[in-house]
Amino acid sequence: PAGQTTLASLVAAHGTQFILATFTTLTGKPCAKLIPASAVEDFQTEGCGFAGYAAGAMGQVPADPDIVALPDPGSFTPLPFIRPGLAMVHCDPHVNGEPYPYAPRVILRRQLDRLAALGMTLSVGAEVEYFLVQKNPDGSICPADEADNATQPCYDARGVTRMYDHLSAVSEAMEQLGWGPYASDHEDGNGQFEQNFHYADAMITADRVTTLRYIIQMLAEARGMTATFMPKPFADRTGSGLHFHMSLWGDEGPRFPSPGADDVHGLGLSTLGYGFVAGLVEHAPALQALIAPTVNSYKRTRAASTSSGASWAPRAATYGGNDRTHLIRVPDEHRIELRAGDGAASSHLAIAAALGAGLDGVERGLDPGAPGARPEGAPLLPRTLLDAVSELDRDPVMRAVLDSADPSGKVSAYYAELKRNEFYDWHAQVTDWELRQYLTAV
Ligand code: GLU
Ligand code: MG
Ligand code: MG
Repeated sequence: PAGQTTLASLVAAHGTQFILATFTTLTGKPCAKLIPASAVEDFQTEGCGFAGYAAGAMGQVPADPDIVALPDPGSFTPLPFIRPGLAMVHCDPHVNGEPYPYAPRVILRRQLDRLAALGMTLSVGAEVEYFLVQKNPDGSICPADEADNATQPCYDARGVTRMYDHLSAVSEAMEQLGWGPYASDHEDGNGQFEQNFHYADAMITADRVTTLRYIIQMLAEARGMTATFMPKPFADRTGSGLHFHMSLWGDEGPRFPSPGADDVHGLGLSTLGYGFVAGLVEHAPALQALIAPTVNSYKRTRAASTSSGASWAPRAATYGGNDRTHLIRVPDEHRIELRAGDGAASSHLAIAAALGAGLDGVERGLDPGAPGARPEGAPLLPRTLLDAVSELDRDPVMRAVLDSADPSGKVSAYYAELKRNEFYDWHAQVTDWELRQYLTAV
């Protein structure tokens, strides 16, 4: 359409030599091909082909037709701080000319379309936490830095100073990209950091989380470190979350703040805002399978406390005001923070799932009850990936998110099978713990 910026014009304007044509699989793995600028016209109109089975969790077998990744020019991101002339563009995977229902970006697009039909948009701010580690020759890992104040390293000034070169490079990259970085801090585990940027439209933030992980990993590697977003790399340190700050917007402006009379629970939210919270609370157990999607994820939510007395990762489906021990924190009337997701999630799938859960609460006019402590008998969040997948099996609303672009149910069935097998593969390991428990137990 007239006025739409083409990829070719962006490539020319930025002096781009190569484009990483990127999409993520259902398990969040970023897949890319490097497209030379000379081929940009064809790439723009024809997309570029991937063997889906080789890409990973995309619902394909070897004989299936190729996945064709069609670029979204609006997501064009120059990455000269990684390599001069390099850029990334996020793509919508297609198969046989149709948006591919197994692709997280396609799934998120469908959920956002559903929201648009209700006259609303979703803004999301994402908090990306990660560890900087060194890999030892024996395959083990250790934090790339041990803060002096090892018992309570959160906000340690010396820790961020030692990692200044890395943290400032990431922050400057975000600045150049216009993402509005506003803070980098040392988190609760030694070697653990978080780097924040301004909230934006849901699709833009989902793309940025994927891009940011790539930027952080490449810049860490250039300094001889490994950046990991895995939820719980060390049993005795806090895990890495991926918190989402979410707000719905309509023609008249923000929809979460209460105009007055309908703030029934005193946190400043509208009926719609409480409905969104209630949807997240109701679907939280099944939602975990999509936002805390690995075996390792459940070690974060069962985490040992830090010296400050909290692991800061939720255990139960509760909500509250400015209290970071809940599943949902309501810092003010403009947004809610969903704290359950972790660094292993596909950003697109996780945001789609959270939106699907919240929207169900809005559409059904649910009420979350009084904020605060867990009501007597209310269920804990699932303790393992297997439990979470069972919750997903039982929750048609969360399954429907996975099946956003194909109502047959095959995407959710595939995902559940994939994740169940992941649990069984992990369970088939014989661990040190078992040797200690059982070797000479009888
Ligand atoms: N690292 C914590 C988590 O796993 C969050 C700490 C924080 O609130 O920043 O969710
Ligand atoms: Mg944090
Ligand atoms: Mg947070």
